[in-house]
Amino acid sequence: MPNQQTPILVLGPMASEIDALTAALTDAEETRLGDYRCVAGLLDGVPVVTVRTFIGMVHAAAATALAASHFSPRCVLIQGTAGAHDPALHRGDLVLGASLIEMGSYYTLHRDVGGGSRYEDYVFPGVELPFGGEPKRVRTLESDPSLLAIAEAVPYLRGRRVTGTISSGDLWNRELDVLDRLHRECGSLCEEMEGFAVAQVCRMLGLPMLAVRVISNSEWHAGEDFDESVALWCQEYCRELIAQIDRNLGGGGKQ
Ligand code: SAH
Repeated sequence: MPNQQTPILVLGPMASEIDALTAALTDAEETRLGDYRCVAGLLDGVPVVTVRTFIGMVHAAAATALAASHFSPRCVLIQGTAGAHDPALHRGDLVLGASLIEMGSYYTLHRDVGGGSRYEDYVFPGVELPFGGEPKRVRTLESDPSLLAIAEAVPYLRGRRVTGTISSGDLWNRELDVLDRLHRECGSLCEEMEGFAVAQVCRMLGLPMLAVRVISNSEWHAGEDFDESVALWCQEYCRELIAQIDRNLGGGGKQ
């Protein structure tokens, strides 16, 4: 009876980023929350709920909030593909998001007609979050340190595995100067379209979360265009990660 135990909530935006984990569930039971398909079941004996969030920050936030209130998970994993900011990363490498930044929330300076646009001048004021009821602007949110420590001990054999900052926003950057600014000024390793939104909702709900991404494209390297098939490698890693979370934190799976 999987639903009587506290599940781990696993999110993936595209079908290719979640279907393998969903297919691996036993005793699976589907629930629709709006158009979000949630499947509760056992992953190698561990209670898990998978959700396909669809692409983008609003979907990620809505799916997280709905699934969290419906299933009361013990923690949340957002996982899937990402594009490299760090030129040292290649397709197939894995990024553990120790922290997440919102890269799509910016102000521009006034420019007259014909003045063009300069990314160097964009100002990133951060996202407003309440701290003890008082709004404060933050640009960075952290993954849970215990989940991160567990993830760092799980082997990944398909490529390198690195830990650092992931950028999120409803955009896809391909301009190398932009990637370079995000990498050098913010220490960002890669970009995607959901992680920060999930982290924001999890922070509001007091839920531990971790972001895990596989590099599916890099503008820095010829021949490394978007290839979503590597999403399988991320799910393969997350399957082992979930077993280790259950072993280390206990509380949900079979004894
Ligand atoms: N089939 C779609 C692909 C969308 S990719 C199309 O051709 O339009 C967007 C998804 O992949 C998002 O969920 C995002 O999290 C992830 N992603 C992968 N690489 C990305 C990049 N370089 N920038 C932003 N999002 C990226």
